[in-house]
Amino acid sequence: MSDRLRNLPSVNKLLAEAEEAGLLDSAPRAVVADAIRASIEAARSRDGASPQFGWIADVEREIGERTRMSLTRVVNATGVVLHTNLGRAPMPDAARKACIGGFGYSTLELNAATGHRGSRQTRLRSLLAEITGAENALVVNNAAAAMFMLLNTFADGGETIVSRGELVEIGGAFRIPDILAKSGSVLVEVGTTNRTRLSDYRLALSPNTRVLLKVHQSNFLQLGFVEETTLADLVSLGQARNIRVIHDVGSGLLIDLSEHGLKGEPLVSDSVAAGAIVVFSGDKLLGGPQAGIVVGPTSLIDRAAANPLARALRPDKVTIAALEATLALYRDPAVAIREIPCLAMLTADPRDLEKRSQQLAELVPGAETEPGESAIGGGAFPGVHLATTLVVVEAPSADAFLASLRGNDPPILARTANQRVIFDVRTIADDEIPIVAQAIQTIRDCV
Ligand SMILES: *Cc1c(COP(=O)(O)O)cnc(C)c1O
Repeated sequence: MSDRLRNLPSVNKLLAEAEEAGLLDSAPRAVVADAIRASIEAARSRDGASPQFGWIADVEREIGERTRMSLTRVVNATGVVLHTNLGRAPMPDAARKACIGGFGYSTLELNAATGHRGSRQTRLRSLLAEITGAENALVVNNAAAAMFMLLNTFADGGETIVSRGELVEIGGAFRIPDILAKSGSVLVEVGTTNRTRLSDYRLALSPNTRVLLKVHQSNFLQLGFVEETTLADLVSLGQARNIRVIHDVGSGLLIDLSEHGLKGEPLVSDSVAAGAIVVFSGDKLLGGPQAGIVVGPTSLIDRAAANPLARALRPDKVTIAALEATLALYRDPAVAIREIPCLAMLTADPRDLEKRSQQLAELVPGAETEPGESAIGGGAFPGVHLATTLVVVEAPSADAFLASLRGNDPPILARTANQRVIFDVRTIADDEIPIVAQAIQTIRDCV
């Protein structure tokens, strides 16, 4: 054993020094002791070499790693608007404010006028009806949960017919055939990968058919020799035989964005008007908290609400507050586009993006701007390319530069292309531009 290894300090000695330095005021003794053991262990693996900046500084860093909140703010400079790793949709200010009302005691299940018990979803249900044109609505924890609950309500013990082109996998291991099997329904596949006609569904009908399921191919595109059956045709087929039609539209597009070049996602209100039970997420294009939303006729929504799964999968009070505040913005589409961050980012004026990219580039000597494209993410609008202006920084190692950006406080997420580091201002807030500029300079000075 080397002398250095033999001379490593003991836990007790460092604990006394840590106490002297006031570290026990910042964390419980057990956490400090654990940090000290980790610091000594790390020195042991360096053949006994002391920490570069001294023992106490190293222990402090270890304490920081153990006490820092796991969710911290990051700057999204990737231009990917609905970034799954970064929590999908950033929430509107109105949602942040509304959440606070849910932290203490609240009117969650109280009708303040009568003093009697109320329902936690009354306002959400009426807002969703108003915005989507549906008769009624029900909210659960996420869209996968909503699908599970609906299939279990309407097709447990019976058959669900799905096109082979729509047996999709969404990120995070959500697969339509698996959720169907867990719900207790039997999957009946019809058509082919690229083409499924109404006659395919008709021929597959049996006395056990309970549901015709249509799933939006949200995260990929099929081009060429393709054909799918319209929702309206499925609804007329189902209606004649008392079979439910469920449309999983994925993203929750509540207003038409085609004039901004955003085409190809189904509008929730169109699917409602076609007569389907419609399912979508709260934290994709809708731009609110994680939630699974079901809208449709009251008689069917009531049946789903009576399923014990609706209770098991119900949303919590903070989600309800944030979702209600987000939905309320949709009462005026112009307000929604301005106030809901993901909609504002998706519809940003290219000239404004150019101006903001120049602002960033001017703060960073040597940075250039060039035309480029932003991605939307979250499985929405897969074929759409949004024009943007990128800020480009040359670096000896682009990957090392990205890693240093992630190590910044707050962490900054960017992209690389051809060994250059790329920043897209579409997803960078105005007050984050100086933060990004400062980080780029600091990292450059170090490498
Ligand atoms: C995203 C998506 C889901 C899952 O939604 P979560 O809210 O993440 O559970 C289901 N179906 C489709 C078509 C989707 O795009």
